[in-house]
Amino acid sequence: MQPKSNIVHLPVYQPGKPIEEVQKELGLTEVIKLASNENPFGCSERAKAAIMEQLGQSNIYPDGASAELAEELASRLGVQRNQLVFGTGSSDIILMICRAFLAAGDETVMADETFSQYKHNAEIENARIIEVPLSDGKHDLDGMLAQITDRTKIVWICNPNNPTGTIVSREELAAFLDRVPAHVLVVLDEAYFEFAVDPDYPNGIELLEQYGNLVVLRTFSKAYGLAAFRIGYGVGRPEVIRYINQVREPFNTSRAAQAAAKAALQDPAFVDYCRSENRKGVEYLYEQFERLCLAYFPTQSNFVLVDAGLSSLSVFDALLRKGVIVRAGWRHYPTYIRVSVGTDEQNRKFVAALEDVLQDMAVRG
Ligand SMILES: *Cc1c(COP(=O)(O)O)cnc(C)c1O
Repeated sequence: MQPKSNIVHLPVYQPGKPIEEVQKELGLTEVIKLASNENPFGCSERAKAAIMEQLGQSNIYPDGASAELAEELASRLGVQRNQLVFGTGSSDIILMICRAFLAAGDETVMADETFSQYKHNAEIENARIIEVPLSDGKHDLDGMLAQITDRTKIVWICNPNNPTGTIVSREELAAFLDRVPAHVLVVLDEAYFEFAVDPDYPNGIELLEQYGNLVVLRTFSKAYGLAAFRIGYGVGRPEVIRYINQVREPFNTSRAAQAAAKAALQDPAFVDYCRSENRKGVEYLYEQFERLCLAYFPTQSNFVLVDAGLSSLSVFDALLRKGVIVRAGWRHYPTYIRVSVGTDEQNRKFVAALEDVLQDMAVRG
């Protein structure tokens, strides 16, 4: 057997540890997972009802074009239906964009650190990856522009950025897009769009009219609480979206996911509630990190990257033993952990566990 040589070294994606596994391994009854930026409030009741309704049609293929969902979404976003492509999560759109745009030797520019799937999928296509270090946790847009050549096919901007939670402002983004050559596709990943409250945070969809080489990614996994159902989307000019649809699997998204997403869009009050509860959680965490003298990046998302001051992997491990799962292990942030904002109760339990862990580790030196 001889797989493509460029995939041999690739890691299998390591998701946040599942709750059941941690319970079993450590003999804990209560475990909270604040590792994958999941919505602690579940999803809209309307979405649940829509999913139940689909169970009777389990034997029928879904609509490959997601026409009903596309119609609902297009009217809410103020775009045409042929400006939308759906995927099994926006991760699937990332995969499709790489498949459609990158050939061996093509160049693609991204931040370092950012969402791992841009690099992963670009490597599968044998593209040349150019990573530009973050500056103070933020995309270095000038540094990224300086790396663009005639061979550059895609530039990735994650806004807010995962794992730092920082944003590129409207002004910074427009100045950047003005300078990106037209032959380069700019992928603007707005997975946490619904959580952002900063008035300077740009809505990428409003920029599509001006910039034809832009594609915006969003997902129902985070603010809409539908991560289990796997549905996300891309928005762009019809000609860009057509290329992505050309490489899409015919029946990629399920009937239940399409119905759930459509119903979720009809319940904006649920997302408003999640946004405001999330922001309260963020403010609480800021307060506690300041009390514990821990530095953190200000966030516009539903997670915070905080400096525990010690090896993040050992803090991760010690928190796990107390029944709290977080995320750790970023190359450029070896002492930082990323914690998803949970319910008020979960946030308090996390802070208490973190305080215990840091105290224990300080005593033991
Ligand atoms: C969570 C996340 C996604 C997509 O998740 P899906 O569940 O595949 O929709 C995309 N980009 C970033 C930055 C994310 O954090």
